Amino acid sequence: MTDITIIGGGIVGIATALAVQRAWPGLAVQLLEKEDTLARHQTGRNSGVIHAGIYYAPGSLKAEFCRRGVAATVRFCTEHQLPFEQCGKLLVATSQDEAERLAALTERARTNGIDVRPISATELREREPNIAGLAGLLSPTTGIADYAAITNKMAELFTALGGEIVYDARVTGIDESPSDVTLSLADGQRQRTRRVIACAGLDADRLAAMCGLADDFAIVPFKGEYYRLAPRHDSVVNHLIYPVPDPDLPFLGIHLTRMIGGYVTVGPNAVLSLAREGYGGWAMSARDMGAMARFPGFWRTIGANLSSGVGEMASSVFRRRYLRKCQRYCPSLELSDLQPHPPGIRAQAVMRDGTLVHDFLIRNTARTIHICNAPSPAATSAMPIADHIRDEAARVFGLNTKGT
Ligand SMILES: Cc1cc2nc3c(=O)[nH]c(=O)nc-3n(C[C@H](O)[C@H](O)[C@H](O)COP(=O)(O)OP(=O)(O)OC[C@H]3O[C@@H](n4cnc5c(N)ncnc54)[C@H](O)[C@@H]3O)c2cc1C
Repeated sequence: MTDITIIGGGIVGIATALAVQRAWPGLAVQLLEKEDTLARHQTGRNSGVIHAGIYYAPGSLKAEFCRRGVAATVRFCTEHQLPFEQCGKLLVATSQDEAERLAALTERARTNGIDVRPISATELREREPNIAGLAGLLSPTTGIADYAAITNKMAELFTALGGEIVYDARVTGIDESPSDVTLSLADGQRQRTRRVIACAGLDADRLAAMCGLADDFAIVPFKGEYYRLAPRHDSVVNHLIYPVPDPDLPFLGIHLTRMIGGYVTVGPNAVLSLAREGYGGWAMSARDMGAMARFPGFWRTIGANLSSGVGEMASSVFRRRYLRKCQRYCPSLELSDLQPHPPGIRAQAVMRDGTLVHDFLIRNTARTIHICNAPSPAATSAMPIADHIRDEAARVFGLNTKGT
């Protein structure tokens, strides 16, 4: 019997496993991952941005974790010689209305304690000769990293401390008793543990439902599609280039991202995915579609965001439309510059009334803790999130410093 079992080998699960094993070296900590490698889903399929935390609601867990996450990520990469670069990010206003919204964003960033600086059209041209805009906001601490590499390094540290990672171990059932928890696995095995921490990303609601914690929310998968720019554009930008976000839908907006590896991507958009792990063009899953159709919050969120949803879908189907969005601030791009790049799928928690959950959502029973929503920038924030979950584990499970 293990003392603590973590479910999910994305960056949140691995960072949590490491934080827990470091806090209680005497405990037997095990991590179960259903794939045969780590970081196969959101963690290995994202933009690779170390977000500074400009947009998030002041006082939210998201704002606080992100601010601390930037420093933690930079420190971790430096200490373990993993690639990263704080190349800075420029929010670019392409209309008067957007220029006015930049002022509000400047205020919000400063309330969140983030270093930002408004820049004029002249300075924008000097910094980014290939970018067109009326004004900009510079975030010098934003950067890029390889989150799969960070996850693998954390896994190495976790196992060096005695932690165990089991691959090809899909949890299909959680049965909690007053004294322990029995986990059922897809291969028919059953396994007992004293406590569980579930960090299951796209399956977070299914694991929470096994413990009676998901009556009022469900995961709705939103695909983010990217293009890789043709090699002639590898140096097209010096910073990461972002549009000014729509205050109601801040996660929408295709950006130009310099990647670790020396190339540039554009994306991601946000289109409804008909399969939670359906990365191929028209992938569908009857199980996932059925779950969405039965959840009233799905229809409410689709209804409330119909026009932006249709717009995102149209730019997914029509490459020329996607290109026009990029050309607004990078006019030199042409259709032939948009080359294939793997998509990612966001695990977005939606409440029964159709509200999108923008902050982290963590729930528990006596012996289980579930990370029900870990939205972007959870890769940036993984280490502070893990510290928070470790503290929650001490509180919920009543663990003292020795883990007893
Ligand atoms: C398109 C896109 C772009 C993004 N860009 C950024 C960015 O630039 N910067 C940033 O900070 N964040 C970004 N994010 C967000 C970030 O990637 C995620 O918030 C973060 O990776 C979440 O990590 P996780 O460990 O919770 O989930 P995941 O990485 O999805 O890991 C969950 C793991 O649980 C496993 N699992 C699920 N169910 C079971 C089960 N039943 N049994 C066993 N194992 C199970 C899965 O196989 C998976 O490995 C982006 C996300 C997407 C999708």
